[in-house]
Amino acid sequence: MYSWVKQWAIDRFGEVKEAKGGEEVRVNCPNPNCLGKKGVRDTKFHLYINIKSGVFICPRCGWKGHLREFVEWVDGTTWNEFVKYLRYNEFTDLGFDEFKKKIFEKLTNKSTQTSNKKVKLYKELPFKTLKITKETIAFRYLKRRGFSMEDVEKFSLRYCIEGKYAFRIIVPFYENRKLVYYIARKYVEDIPGVKVKNPSSSDNRMLPKNEVLFNIDNIDVTKPVVITEGVFDAMTVPNGIALLGKYMSKQQILKLKRKNVSKATVCLDRDAWTDTVSLAKTLKTYGFDVYVVRLTEYKDPNEAGKLYMRRLLLKAEKLDFSLMVKTQLNQ
Ligand SMILES: [Zn+2]
Repeated sequence: MYSWVKQWAIDRFGEVKEAKGGEEVRVNCPNPNCLGKKGVRDTKFHLYINIKSGVFICPRCGWKGHLREFVEWVDGTTWNEFVKYLRYNEFTDLGFDEFKKKIFEKLTNKSTQTSNKKVKLYKELPFKTLKITKETIAFRYLKRRGFSMEDVEKFSLRYCIEGKYAFRIIVPFYENRKLVYYIARKYVEDIPGVKVKNPSSSDNRMLPKNEVLFNIDNIDVTKPVVITEGVFDAMTVPNGIALLGKYMSKQQILKLKRKNVSKATVCLDRDAWTDTVSLAKTLKTYGFDVYVVRLTEYKDPNEAGKLYMRRLLLKAEKLDFSLMVKTQLNQ
């Protein structure tokens, strides 16, 4: 029984309707793509939530699922954080906007507190690294990939000549100035081992790979954040972040939300057009203004280079209904 739903929905939506003697709470569907036949937003309380089963459905746009998904979408938080909040707080009679701001602040503070308690992060890289200078082989490698000494500084790049990361460039990931992850990329091809090494997944002083976003500390939230796959791609484009793959987890999306990022450009590798479209759609449901670019001549942003990418990004297309139709036809 989700008896708090009605109060929560009033706080979030201002007005609700009830059906089935209070068993169902109905709100105006907040899905920006729920536009009906006439292309207008819902004003007739089409989305209903069953407070006994916790199931919600909007027959107008077909969005349905468990309350859990709906709350996460509306509040931009995770269900666990939300439930924790419910346990020790009563709903107040604050107005809609102020209440939402308050609860959101509380949830974000709470979540950083718990994650700090859970993960005792390293103060610095937990092994011996060296400074990259112009004369090093590590820098020669970076230069071949289009990077300068300014990039070395900006992204705090280091390198190793001994230990398990010998002859690798270390790319650290920071969040709020704290080290949360790193990768170790070979700069000499003829050494054994995989191209890229990650911290051991049993190292519980690092965050999991699917929760980190490379370069999140450096982004300018007033400009579109460019979402790429690899760290060298993110370093090639302006305002870039890297997912370390083609998939963006909910935790990664919520991290962008918490930073107050509102515009995002999806810029994955050439082989990932389907993933690009699907990520763009997902980001749109989280309320981002979404743009997409498609690489055709090069396999990834780093191969394309800084200048080419700047030009390509100027031509990024906004994801709206017509582009969604077009991309579906082109897939
Ligand atoms: Zn709807």
